[in-house]
Amino acid sequence: MLLSFYPGPAKVYPQVSQYMQEAMQEGILSLNHRSPAFMSLCEATIENCREKLAIPANYTLFFTSSATECWEIIAQSFLQEGDSVLHYYRGAFGEKWADYTEKLCDYASKQVRIFRHEDATSLPTNPTLACFTPNETSNGTAINDSALRKLIKEISPAFVACDVTSSLGGVQLPFKLGDIWFASVQKCLGLPAGMAICIMSPRAVKRAYEIGENARYNSLTNILDNIQKFQTPYTPNILGIYLLNKVMQQVAPIAEVDAMIRRRAKDWYAFLAQYKKYSTHGNFTRSPTVLCVESKPAKIHHLKTEMQNRHIVLGNGYAKGKDNSFRIANFPAITEEEIAVCKANLANLLVSE
Ligand SMILES: *Cc1c(COP(=O)(O)O)cnc(C)c1O
Repeated sequence: MLLSFYPGPAKVYPQVSQYMQEAMQEGILSLNHRSPAFMSLCEATIENCREKLAIPANYTLFFTSSATECWEIIAQSFLQEGDSVLHYYRGAFGEKWADYTEKLCDYASKQVRIFRHEDATSLPTNPTLACFTPNETSNGTAINDSALRKLIKEISPAFVACDVTSSLGGVQLPFKLGDIWFASVQKCLGLPAGMAICIMSPRAVKRAYEIGENARYNSLTNILDNIQKFQTPYTPNILGIYLLNKVMQQVAPIAEVDAMIRRRAKDWYAFLAQYKKYSTHGNFTRSPTVLCVESKPAKIHHLKTEMQNRHIVLGNGYAKGKDNSFRIANFPAITEEEIAVCKANLANLLVSE
């Protein structure tokens, strides 16, 4: 059995195996997605997510197939002629999102001004929408809540969209600060890939209807009309929704998970700080859920190979960090015992350096 510390697709909760069998036995997978049984599953899933993840009562939740689809939906249905968008990012996922917005608006011949800020100090005034990736999975950097609050204040009253793919389910998110929050389920939520959750504020829902874009299978107005009836425009990932519902029933409230993840992150960073030839990000910019460790390419390669031989999978570096870093997922589905095994093996390999 491999121990996976890959930050996505990541370790799936072991209970998922049982839940998959239950889904088969209950016959839910063969049900029509306009049936009352599906609608009540959809409703229960939304309510369990809301309760366990502490999502405000007046925010709308719906499902898409991926975080990438959410990037596309925002560009297609939430932006219109004359808007300006700020993409504020520190890594590859945030940058890719900006590329999507740019290409889609260009393709639709939509005149939208796009500002890219990589660690900039001053932001353009009055963008229509600001896009953040507060937890950058590619390089383990994070914008902590107080820094995010400050940035959002600077561009207020802009709409705010946050890609929280590698933090939703691991840390408590400040939903009230933003309007659109989304995450794929295969990272911090410990589920099989193929679905994402999107969360929208009342004023974002209102704007989507004002724009009224409805030409696509995944147009926001279509999705929002359907989710009011606990339905979806197209046949959804029913198994994914079923599993999400089960996992949300199983997990502790997010405040408890958050405390555990932050304690584990602190321990991980203290552990890694012992090895001077390897570095991690500073206190204010490091992610609690995705740790990125940098060193010389030869060291990184050796360490990953040796760990692989011991059946422990570390995350590869991503994009620019491919050769000079590895990543460690600090997601809630990973157990204390697995972390102890990983640290013991790392310590054993690093001690000689
Ligand atoms: C993994 C990831 C994505 C892409 O997720 P998909 O499910 O492949 O769409 C997007 N953004 C962030 C921050 C991610 O970590």
